[in-house]
Amino acid sequence: MTETHSTAVRGDSGPEVAQLVASRVLDVPDFPKPGVMFKDLMPLFADGDVFREVIDGIVAHHGRDAFDIVVGIEARGFVIAAAIAYATGVGVVPVRKAGKLPRPAYSASYELEYGEATLEVHQDAFTAGHRVLVVDDVLATGGTAEATLDLVERAGGTVAGFTVLLELGFLEGRKRLAPRPVHALLTV
Ligand code: AMP
Repeated sequence: MTETHSTAVRGDSGPEVAQLVASRVLDVPDFPKPGVMFKDLMPLFADGDVFREVIDGIVAHHGRDAFDIVVGIEARGFVIAAAIAYATGVGVVPVRKAGKLPRPAYSASYELEYGEATLEVHQDAFTAGHRVLVVDDVLATGGTAEATLDLVERAGGTVAGFTVLLELGFLEGRKRLAPRPVHALLTV
């Protein structure tokens, strides 16, 4: 029993979904730079049955009627956002890296381990009061998510939820985003 506990995977949608995600993530050491363990979720995206189950799990967690639009964070968040949008009949708004959006945009900059990054969203992306579900693949320090949630609010949206497939718990991104709730399918 003790052994089972020490190896059990955990996540906010329960151990079964957490195990499903864990079974389709590859650890890539020293990518994109030495000392980083990259969590590669491409195997999950490439497995149609698992991908569908994961998307359905995200929708079930929030409730089909709990959001009006989905935001995906460039670039892997786009894959997840598009699938949720199609499954629920809502639209997608991309939050993009600086300089990619063609029309007037709000920008938010945040610190990376080395240097700075900037994300942008079109100023007219949401109608006032739009309930916005934000999704990404991995939550690490939370800087990317914090900047994105701020952008959503500046552009007139209301954050209805934030979901990641995988959370690196030891980096405490969840604390940084508090009191906004984080829904992580797998926490490692
Ligand atoms: P952060 O802003 O530190 O929370 O970083 C989150 C963003 O960087 C997400 O868009 C992730 O796709 C990416 N990311 C950060 N760390 C990792 C990692 N170890 N493996 C995969 N993606 C990561």
